[in-house]
Amino acid sequence: MAVDVLPNDAHNALLVANVHPPDWRQPNPAPRYNLVVIGGGTAGLVTAAGAAGLGARVALIERHLLGGDCLNVGCVPSKCVIRSSRVVGDIRAAGALGVRVNGAVEPDFGAVMKRMRGIRARISRHDSAERFNGLGVDVFLGDGRFTGPDTVEVNGTALRFKKAVIATGARAHHPMVPGLDEAGFLTNETVFELTECPRRLAVIGAGPIGCELAQAFRRLGSEVTLFHTGGHILNREDADAAGIVQRAFVDEGIHLALDARLTRVERSADGKVLHCDTPRGPLRVVVDEILVGAGRVPNVDGLGLEAVGVAYDRKAGVTVNDRLQTSNPRIYAAGDICMSEKFTHAADFAARVVIQNALFLGRKTLSALTIPWCTYTDPEIAHVGLYERDAETRGIPIDTYLRPFSEVDRALADGEEDGFVKVHVRKGGDKIVGATIVARHAGEMINELTLAMTAGVGLGRLASVIHPYPTQAEAIRQVGDMFNRTRLTPKVKRLFAAWLRWTR
Ligand SMILES: Cc1cc2nc3c(=O)[nH]c(=O)nc-3n(C[C@H](O)[C@H](O)[C@H](O)COP(=O)(O)OP(=O)(O)OC[C@H]3O[C@@H](n4cnc5c(N)ncnc54)[C@H](O)[C@@H]3O)c2cc1C
Repeated sequence: MAVDVLPNDAHNALLVANVHPPDWRQPNPAPRYNLVVIGGGTAGLVTAAGAAGLGARVALIERHLLGGDCLNVGCVPSKCVIRSSRVVGDIRAAGALGVRVNGAVEPDFGAVMKRMRGIRARISRHDSAERFNGLGVDVFLGDGRFTGPDTVEVNGTALRFKKAVIATGARAHHPMVPGLDEAGFLTNETVFELTECPRRLAVIGAGPIGCELAQAFRRLGSEVTLFHTGGHILNREDADAAGIVQRAFVDEGIHLALDARLTRVERSADGKVLHCDTPRGPLRVVVDEILVGAGRVPNVDGLGLEAVGVAYDRKAGVTVNDRLQTSNPRIYAAGDICMSEKFTHAADFAARVVIQNALFLGRKTLSALTIPWCTYTDPEIAHVGLYERDAETRGIPIDTYLRPFSEVDRALADGEEDGFVKVHVRKGGDKIVGATIVARHAGEMINELTLAMTAGVGLGRLASVIHPYPTQAEAIRQVGDMFNRTRLTPKVKRLFAAWLRWTR
């Protein structure tokens, strides 16, 4: 079945030619595969490529676009649009840096989206059916479904497997608000099809997806109202970190409807009208478009999971153990379909766990992975490991070290002092158990702390890592210095003083 990606232009035609070629010839199935993978997003692609590279016979089934959410309707398009919106942010901030910009800042939304489509099409060759075919993977385009204990069917063709992997991902949750369906709304699946910027935009949900897109659209010209059930945006993040981003949103003119419960949506001559209850009273907001970013639901339907005894939950997805094995020992799962960490890099590394466990009797575990993440607002929030609340719940005593960017020379020079590096260590030692960074490029900076955690490098040793001056990442070394200073107890100080007196 041919797939259309809107708008119909040369970029999207190239995208489709790569990731769902209309003239794709389904391969002749092998008598039996080492691995049949259902879903060609990050988790499925990495599993298939890795397994084939090791010599396994692999079939990969994708019903829509290879590359999944990340390439087509997630990370890639959103980061392209965010990049353009950051230029607007920079120009607006230029005055504070002593640069006068004459005339209005006029983002060309059509050009922004065209640039995005061009980059997405360019990147799509990495995930193309042709490339995977060349890697030795049998690529089947169609709906995959378990039909027997060792059989998956696609377009009426039965594929027999020794092991199978479910990598069918997740999709946007549709909130049950009366009138919302009738009024019509966008999700991440349709928002990147836009060619004109909505004049007034309601964003439902202030999690990472909602916040990233709310800020981007605001900067690109929309009047944005962000509706959230929580008391502050990004409420799963460190509260201090979320507070900084929330202040930036308010400064940029994003209207926040917090603790808001949407009661109904209706169409009027003037647009789509959202009604909600808030602790401050009822609120009525009229917009041109509504974007829903209110959580993700796993794609479990139509897979025939019951037929093969794979347990699942409609909210949490396919149930897996720490080795990513489902309740059917021959079937594994990876990525958004089964994990609470819904990120591309998490899906990627989960796929590597699956390859080793499914094909080589490995005993790799998901819990052994240290998975950082980043929300690409401006400033960004990046995090790895435990939050303070996690440590408290798990009864892990911690010490917290914090360096605000208002005390970091480079951040002052950059005019980016709203942020911090916060590191949690096990109480009394320097083992890093978690960290949060709020900074323009926090996603780049968190890697140093993830490396330290992965390699078992303590916070004290980070103090001896030489960072170029002046960089914002110096804040990490400075947090290490803060830790080392705590070692200078009165007793150690007395000993040093005695030694210096003696050697004077
Ligand atoms: C707007 C947005 C921005 C994001 N930004 C980031 C980011 O910056 N960084 C980050 O790390 N993550 C980001 N993510 C999350 C990231 O996209 C996902 O975590 C990642 O795509 C998960 O990969 P996956 O392989 O598990 O699932 P998916 O990418 O969803 O792939 C699953 C695939 O399975 C296919 N499929 C489903 N059912 C069947 C079936 N029965 N038969 C055949 N095929 C089937 C689907 O068509 C899909 O292609 C973002 C997500 C969104 C929505």
